[in-house]
Amino acid sequence: MKTKILITNDDGFDASGIKELEAGLVGLGELTVVAPDREQSASGHSLTLQRPLRIHERLPNRYAVDGTPTDCVFLGVNHIMRDHRPDLVISGINRGGNLGDDITYSGTVAAAFEATLLGIPAFAVSLEISRERHFATAAKVAYEVAGKVLEHGLPAATLLNVNVPDLPWEKLAGFRITRQGKRSYSDVVRENLDPRGRQYYWIGGEVLQGEDIEGTDAALVRAGFVSITPIHLDLTNYRALKPLENWEWSC
Ligand code: MN
Repeated sequence: MKTKILITNDDGFDASGIKELEAGLVGLGELTVVAPDREQSASGHSLTLQRPLRIHERLPNRYAVDGTPTDCVFLGVNHIMRDHRPDLVISGINRGGNLGDDITYSGTVAAAFEATLLGIPAFAVSLEISRERHFATAAKVAYEVAGKVLEHGLPAATLLNVNVPDLPWEKLAGFRITRQGKRSYSDVVRENLDPRGRQYYWIGGEVLQGEDIEGTDAALVRAGFVSITPIHLDLTNYRALKPLENWEWSC
């Protein structure tokens, strides 16, 4: 039977990254797109439980949902594709890297988390944008990673976080398996007055140029490599178990 691939993102159904991803995967299998109807960046692993969701079939097998990336994967797998669940879920191509701590905010990565929870191999793919926007490079990377995941499968409860530098394909330094690094942002809160004279606040600042920690996603993408980080659903910090056990608990 033909390979079925579900595609989603957090930049929204009309974003160029998901269109480039779709174009880049032609020939790999039957594609179904289920994506948020508007941008949902930094929505994390949020699931809509307090209101109904609507699914709009914009084109054959191309659906826009008025929800989060996680809603899209949930509806895609458990409803739209319920008769033949996808063999692979790909989330992206995100406009902007998902490096280091970004993954805790990322709707792109959360969509891949959701697929993993549903037992389907998944990866997120993001383009670390500068001014050039080589989405085509990231689409080729996605094609290669998808082929490998379909061939080898993934370790249990594990997804891949793929980040691509904004370079032409020929300029890539190579593929590297990495670990999650650090990336920090400006902590500035901008305060201003709205037209009615009330205060408002704008959070979320520029990326601060942090140190490059060897072997991490951020460092290798900066050096021109495609970074592939295996991420685990188990968030336990095993090194913290012993010290916490040694606190003097009352019983
Ligand atoms: Mn995004």
